Order: sequence, then structure tokens, then C-alpha cells
Amino acid sequence: MINYKDLGLVNTREMFKKAVAGGYAIPAFNFNNMEQLQAIIMAAAETKSPVILQVSKGARQYANQTLLRYMAEGAVEYAKELGWENPQIVLHLDHGDSFETCKSCIDMGFSSVMIDGSHLPYEENVALTKKVVEYAHQFDVTVEGELGVLAGVEDEVSAEESHYTKPEEVVDFVTKTGCDSLAISIGTSHGAFKFTPEQCTLDPETGRLLPPPLAFDVLAAIEEQLPGFPIVLHGSSSVPQDEVDTINKYGGALKAAVGIPEEQLRKASKSAVCKINIDSDSRLAMTAAVRQVFAEKPAEFDPRKYLGPARDNMKKLYIHKIKEVLGSDNKA
Ligand SMILES: [Zn+2]
Repeated sequence: MINYKDLGLVNTREMFKKAVAGGYAIPAFNFNNMEQLQAIIMAAAETKSPVILQVSKGARQYANQTLLRYMAEGAVEYAKELGWENPQIVLHLDHGDSFETCKSCIDMGFSSVMIDGSHLPYEENVALTKKVVEYAHQFDVTVEGELGVLAGVEDEVSAEESHYTKPEEVVDFVTKTGCDSLAISIGTSHGAFKFTPEQCTLDPETGRLLPPPLAFDVLAAIEEQLPGFPIVLHGSSSVPQDEVDTINKYGGALKAAVGIPEEQLRKASKSAVCKINIDSDSRLAMTAAVRQVFAEKPAEFDPRKYLGPARDNMKKLYIHKIKEVLGSDNKA
């Protein structure tokens, strides 16, 4: 049993409390390799932003969960080296699919876990989430539950259609399970292709596709039921058009990728939404930089010469998200 506190990590409790009160949101960035982690820590240290390092089931399979955990431990020390005196870093399991997965992460040093029972019948979701909370809270590990279903594909998590969270269920769910935060569905979705062109409208000024707006009425109804309770948004990449354009210019084939406009995320950050998950945007930033190097310098074969620019581009993206979208800079 490894306690996350011995690794210098923190749970989400204080962080979320301050974020809800302060009207900003904490970035939750997924990682599965060194350059991504370096970019996240450099961006967080430079902006003094609390940060959540997310590990998905797919990342655990890809990179090995033991290795990822030691990387997170190293990230705390690295943050200190960068001059961040008191790093506020969470290691979080994204989309835990069973009690056993959550338990194994808690036992090996994660400070926060998500148990995603959103695809289960309501009572089963309650029972599973409660079981994880009871285990996690013994070690002061925080737990994110989920109500409502997001559309899209993220690793193994996939759903054809989204179902908005029912505001009338949230109080019962939070009370019965004791979860520390709640992921909701209000129209965000996983992946870089969040909406079909038919679901979008054409912006006459830019000629680009505008996705349907998030259901802020549902968010408001949830906040009314659970005043001050930490709310989480998954599937909140914005799919920056310049990264998509770079990818396509240098041989990529990303057609009609559409994300959540940053204005909407900015608005959500000011509410009880205190954790915003961003994964696809970093994948796009990495891919754009790598494609550009490959296209412009075809003789290059030193991985540092293309992963280095990829890291720089991801760092730039993370800093932009922290300062211009979530507002979490200078909060840690
Ligand atoms: Zn998710």
C-alpha cells in the first residue's frame, strides 16, 4: 500500500472548494508519455496552476500503470526543481470501470479516482460508486462519480447517444454515494469529432462549423439542487482549428473535427464546474508539431527533434487553457 501523501501528491478536496468559490476550474490533462507529462508540469509550474494528471484505462494499458505512477511521483519533484515551491498535483484515474480497478489505483498511490457507473442502471451506479467511496475515503482519496451519458469515444468508453444528467437525481446520488465530485452530461462529448456537420451550424463570418451550445439550463438546475458541489465536465476539448489545419496541411486527414468553443468553457469555469477534462487538444497539438517536422525535415530521425517541438506545442496549449479558458493561474 502506497499512500499518495508520501509521494507529494494531493487529493482534490481543497482544490475544488477553492475553485468553486473562486469561479475558476482546474485543468485535468490526460497523459501517457514523458513529453506530455513534461509539458503539463512545465505549464502548471510556470503559471502556478493546480493540475490534475489523468490516467485512463487505455493509458494504463499503453504505458504500464506502475511506470505512470512513478512518473507522477517524479513530476512533483520536477515541479519543485522548476521553482514551484508547493506543487498542487493530483494523480487521478479517469473512467475507472470497476471497484477492483479503483482499488488497485488507490493502493498504488493515486490521490483521486473516478468510478464511471453512468452506463449502469441508476441503483447499480449508486451501489458501485458508494463501494468505491467507502474504500477510498479510508485513505483520504477523493472520488468522482458520473450521472448522465456522454457521446463519443475515449479509449474504451464509447456511447452512441448522450443523455443529459437529470437534475432531479443529483441530490439523491451524491447523498447516497458520498462522492466528492460529480461528472455530468450537458452536451460535451469525448474525442475530436464531437458533432456531425449536420448537428452544427455554419458561422457566416469564419465559414466554420459551430456546434450546438452546451445545456447551461441543465447545469443551472443541477447547481440549484447542489449549491457549491464540485461539478466535472468530460469531453471538453475545443479542437483548435489551427492545429487541425496544420495536421491536414502536412498530410493528415482530419475531416470536420469539431470541439466545444472556448467561450462556453470559459462560462462553465465560472460556475460550479471546477474540473475540465482536456485530452484530444493535446493529441492534436502533438500530432501537428510532429507532422510539420516530418514534412519540413524529411531527413530528421532523432526523436528529440520532433518530440521536442511536440512538447513545446503542447506546453503552449496547456498554458493557453490555464490562463485564457479555465482561469486557474496563480491559484497554487
Ligand atoms: Zn471522460
